[in-house]
Amino acid sequence: MQRTLITGGAGFIGSHLAETLLVQGQHVVVIDDLSTGRLENIAALIGQPNFQFVNETIHTESVMDRLVSECDVIYHLAAAVGVELIIKDPVRTIETNLLGTEVVLRLARRYQRKVLLASTSEVYGKSDDLPFREESDRVMGATTKSRWSYAESKAMDEFLALAYHKQLNVPIVICRFFNTVGPRQTGTYGMVIPRLVKQAVNDLPLTVYGDGLQTRCFCNVKDTVRAVVTLSQEPRAVGQIFNVGSSDEITILELAQRIVQQAHSRSEIKLIPYDQAYEAGFEDMRRRVPSTEKIKAAIGWQPTIPLEQTLNEVIAQFRSPA
Ligand code: UDP
Repeated sequence: MQRTLITGGAGFIGSHLAETLLVQGQHVVVIDDLSTGRLENIAALIGQPNFQFVNETIHTESVMDRLVSECDVIYHLAAAVGVELIIKDPVRTIETNLLGTEVVLRLARRYQRKVLLASTSEVYGKSDDLPFREESDRVMGATTKSRWSYAESKAMDEFLALAYHKQLNVPIVICRFFNTVGPRQTGTYGMVIPRLVKQAVNDLPLTVYGDGLQTRCFCNVKDTVRAVVTLSQEPRAVGQIFNVGSSDEITILELAQRIVQQAHSRSEIKLIPYDQAYEAGFEDMRRRVPSTEKIKAAIGWQPTIPLEQTLNEVIAQFRSPA
């Protein structure tokens, strides 16, 4: 039986991943300090014979040493995420993302374990060379703008992972997640869909930032999890970076309109300037679209779940009593 360690496994993507691996018959250990992860995300898994939850930070090296030694593969998802959290707490963002990954990679080297590293489309920054390919140049803003610290911390994670692979032969695979959505995602740290859906089901105004004409591509978490699990089993993926996301592009304004319509909401849509939504001088990216050619060629993956279905799933979650 394969033994899997998921750092950040009580988070949104991690909890879906844990569920899938358990269904596949794997033994799953989750380590999470519940800083942004939530116990309720894994409540249905606790008590299952092949599941173990460790409530601890990944910086506690003695615990991590034992967990890494006992597993076959590590999915490293623990990180500070969410634009709002990053702006509010840049120290935590940078330290969690840099120091946590350093611990994971060092231990993976000690025990020669495979690491699937969760990275992000933020690493492309505000480049307008679309669609973003894994080898594309990156365009970052000034270091005085906190948003970019997230992109840079995850880019350093990538550099470090690639270096451990090249120099020390650690088997690593890097997944650059584009906007990922589905049940259990919280709007607390800024993510747009849970925020707008919550507003819509409560008939409150939908807060669309800027002119609403910025675009994103949203991928259902079930498709994302399938991509990551398949990549973990593909020997040729080792040492490589893959975009994981949908290329179905939508403006945030249209997204808000669809949410109002699908939720049968009476909400109005309200445009809010970025300076008010985040902080003065905040920089957003206008468009963000992945090239998914590489992952398609490697494992035949492409997203299958349409946005309409994903929105219905999220609407249902916000309607049901917690
Ligand atoms: N956004 C918005 N209203 C909100 C939250 C976010 O209009 O209440 C916008 C945000 O400015 C960005 C897009 O929605 O242009 C996606 O934001 P999110 O934080 O979900 O992800 P990002 O792609 O920025 O990492």
